[in-house]
Amino acid sequence: MVYDWIVVGGGIQGTTIAAFLVKNNKVSPGKLRIIDPHKMPLFQWTKNTEKIGMKFLRSPFVHHLDVDPFSLRSFAVNHQWKKSEFYGMYKRPSLEIFNEHSQSLFQDLGLGESWHQGYVNGIDRANDEWNISLDEGDRLKSKKVVLALSINDQLYVPEWAHSIMHENNQLFHIFDEAADFSALQPPISVVGGGITAAHTAIKLSALYPGQVTLIKRHPFRVCDFDSDPGWLGPKYQKNYQ
Ligand SMILES: Cc1cc2nc3c(=O)[nH]c(=O)nc-3n(C[C@H](O)[C@H](O)[C@H](O)COP(=O)(O)OP(=O)(O)OC[C@H]3O[C@@H](n4cnc5c(N)ncnc54)[C@H](O)[C@@H]3O)c2cc1C
Repeated sequence: MVYDWIVVGGGIQGTTIAAFLVKNNKVSPGKLRIIDPHKMPLFQWTKNTEKIGMKFLRSPFVHHLDVDPFSLRSFAVNHQWKKSEFYGMYKRPSLEIFNEHSQSLFQDLGLGESWHQGYVNGIDRANDEWNISLDEGDRLKSKKVVLALSINDQLYVPEWAHSIMHENNQLFHIFDEAADFSALQPPISVVGGGITAAHTAIKLSALYPGQVTLIKRHPFRVCDFDSDPGWLGPKYQKNYQ
């Protein structure tokens, strides 16, 4: 069988493009495959955000996996979620409602049928088709392919930390699976000056009161967003295009 579309990576980006393609009748779930090593969509996202105890998203309520920008707001109204699920001026959604909305979108569109658990290790092109090979030995063919792999599987550990990491099992990258918060030996230092470091310090401080230090090389840089949200919609994009 030759699929119409294959999306490699079933995270935030891969699921968003899959939902977009199905909703816009570009493909049916039966002719689409989303290949990801996990059993469920959004595995990395769910794991990483839960780990640091992030309660609200960093982005506003119009940014989610669905096509209609107001989809998350309608979902909240239709399912009688409280207004307190949206925080501040930009109505940043709670992680809980964002995740519920994402999973419900995935199910409503029948994307379970498109899910293919596996890890892609090669791709080549022959006879106007893409041939995708997987670690598990499977080979899938498709007319079009989207790579939505992210770099979340490739943790960045600075050189100075390498040697200490091998000597000592008390140094972790925050998104390392082995970083078990309940098994740390205090005192604890969190190295980093971004929002993930701040979240981590807050979460660890509740577990180990008075024994957590946040180490950063500059004063806190407080901004509403990573970049001006105008770039995510027509406000700036229209002129740019
Ligand atoms: C703690 C935290 C909070 C964040 N909060 C926000 C926020 O509030 N708002 C916002 O807009 N962004 C936020 N981000 C950023 C956002 O998570 C990323 O931009 C987004 O997850 C990227 O999605 P992705 O699909 O590219 O990656 P992922 O969600 O990591 O998905 C990639 C998937 O591809 C799979 N994969 C990789 N290689 C292969 C392969 N060879 N074969 C098959 N599958 C493969 C991976 O296993 C994974 O499941 C946050 C990030 C973090 C870490």
